[in-house]
Amino acid sequence: MRLAVVGGGPKAAAIAALAECRSLEGYRTPEIVIFEPNEIGASWTGRYGFTDGEQRLCTLAERDLGFPYAFDPWHPRVSGALLNQFSWQAYLTDTWGYGDWLDRGRRPPRHQDYAKYLKWAVDRAVRTTIQIREQVVSLAYKGDWSVRTRASVHGGFDGVVITGSGPPLPPLLGADPAFVFNAFDVFMQERLLRPLLESIPFEDRKVVVIGSGGAGAASVDWLLRSGMPRSQILIVSTGATVFTRSHAYFENRLFSDFDGWNELPIRARRQALDRLTQGVVWAPVAERLAETDLVGYLHGAAKKFELLPTHELALIVDRDPGPALPGSAPPLGSVSVPATIFIDARGFWFGWFVQLLPQPERGVLQQLRSDPGWDMSLDSGFAIDHPMFPPNLHIPAFGGLVHPASTNLMALGEVAKMILDRYDV
Ligand SMILES: Cc1cc2nc3c(=O)[nH]c(=O)nc-3n(C[C@H](O)[C@H](O)[C@H](O)COP(=O)(O)OP(=O)(O)OC[C@H]3O[C@@H](n4cnc5c(N)ncnc54)[C@H](O)[C@@H]3O)c2cc1C
Repeated sequence: MRLAVVGGGPKAAAIAALAECRSLEGYRTPEIVIFEPNEIGASWTGRYGFTDGEQRLCTLAERDLGFPYAFDPWHPRVSGALLNQFSWQAYLTDTWGYGDWLDRGRRPPRHQDYAKYLKWAVDRAVRTTIQIREQVVSLAYKGDWSVRTRASVHGGFDGVVITGSGPPLPPLLGADPAFVFNAFDVFMQERLLRPLLESIPFEDRKVVVIGSGGAGAASVDWLLRSGMPRSQILIVSTGATVFTRSHAYFENRLFSDFDGWNELPIRARRQALDRLTQGVVWAPVAERLAETDLVGYLHGAAKKFELLPTHELALIVDRDPGPALPGSAPPLGSVSVPATIFIDARGFWFGWFVQLLPQPERGVLQQLRSDPGWDMSLDSGFAIDHPMFPPNLHIPAFGGLVHPASTNLMALGEVAKMILDRYDV
C-alpha cells in the first residue's frame, strides 16, 4: 500500500516515524511518499514565512513526533521503538545536544531547531519513506489516488494526507501592499518594514495587528523582540480580549486521553476546541506582551482599509456591539484606525486543498462544507465519509472534533496512528 502526504511538516514526519517503527518491529505498513516543494520543516525554518525561526515552540519539546506513546494492543512494541528512535531526546542524543538542552532547563526548541528535528526524523525513516521535492498541483481519484506535481504524475496511492494551514486569508478591501502585510510573510519583510517605521517619529509610529490568535501574537512578539524600531502596537480583534492558554493538566489531558475525548458530546468538544485551539495565545507569549506598555487592544471587526485625506491608510473597524443591555453604552459604530503599518493575522485558508481536486469531487466537497456541521462527516482517520466522495483523503486540519490534536503539535503520535491504522493490512 502507498500513502501520499502533501507537505513535509510535523504531521508528515510523525507519519514517517510511525511507519518506520512499525516496519522495524515487523508489522506491515504502507510506503509513505512525502511531497514538499521547499524542504522538510519549511514552515519552521524562518526561510518560508510563518516565523523568523528564532521563536520557540509554545508546546513542550517532549510533545514530539511519537507523543503520547500510548499502548497500542495491535502494535505493542511500537511505542518503545518510537521513543528510542524518533523522540526529541533521541534526536538530541544523536546530534550531541542532549546535555546542553537539559542544562538550559529543557526549554522548548526554537522553530529553526524544531525544523532540523523534523528533517532528521524524515531522513531517518529510510525503510518506508520517500521524499519528493515538488509542489502538488492536483489530485485525482480513479480507483486509486494520483498526485500531479509541476514536473510529473505519481499514481497508485491508497490515500492522501493534506497537511498545513494553507495560505493567509485574502486581503481586506483597500489593503495597500506597501503598508499591509500578512502574518505569513511579515517575518521576511524586515527590509521593507524597518525604513517605513524609522521614517515616523516614535510618538506617531503605530502598528495595527488584526487578530488575537497565535499568528497575531507571534507577529507582536516578533516586532518587540527582533530589534525593529519601537512602536505603539494595537491589536484589533473580534474577541473580548487576548485570551491565554497555559500548560494546565486538565486541558492538556484532553489532547492525550483519546478515550476521554471520545466520550465527550460534540457540543463539549466544540467548546474545548474554541477555548484551547482558536483565538488563543500561549502563556509564555502573553507574558512577554505584558512586559511592555506599548501594546494595546481594541475590540471590533476589521472591515476594510481607507485612505484618509491626510494620505494615511486607516483600518475601518466595526465596533457595533449588537443588541445592547439596558443602560449600557450606545452602539459605537465604525471607527477609523490610522497606522504606519498593518499586519493582517486574521487566519489562514484551511480549505486551500479544494483547488487541488477535480470536479465532481470539488463540487461535492464544497456542497458538504456549506453545512456548518460538515466536520462531523470526517471519520476516525480524518477522511471524508460520504458515498459521493472518494475514500482516504485525510484532512486533519478539519479534524478537531475527531481528535483535538489534529491541528497542532499536542499529540502528533496519536494523529499519525489514527491515519496509519487505516492502512493496517
Ligand atoms: C511557525 C509555527 C509555529 C507553531 N507553533 C505551535 C506550537 O508551538 N504548538 C502547537 O501545538 N502548534 C503550533 N503551531 C500550529 C500547528 O502545529 C501547525 O500549524 C500544524 O500542525 C503544522 O503541521 P503540518 O505538518 O500540518 O504543516 P506545516 O508544518 O505547515 O507543513 C506544511 C507543508 O506543506 C508544504 N506545502 C504547501 N503547499 C503544498 C503543496 N501544494 N504541495 C506540497 N507541499 C505543500 C509547505 O511547504 C509546508 O512545508 C505552529 C505553526 C507554525 C507554522
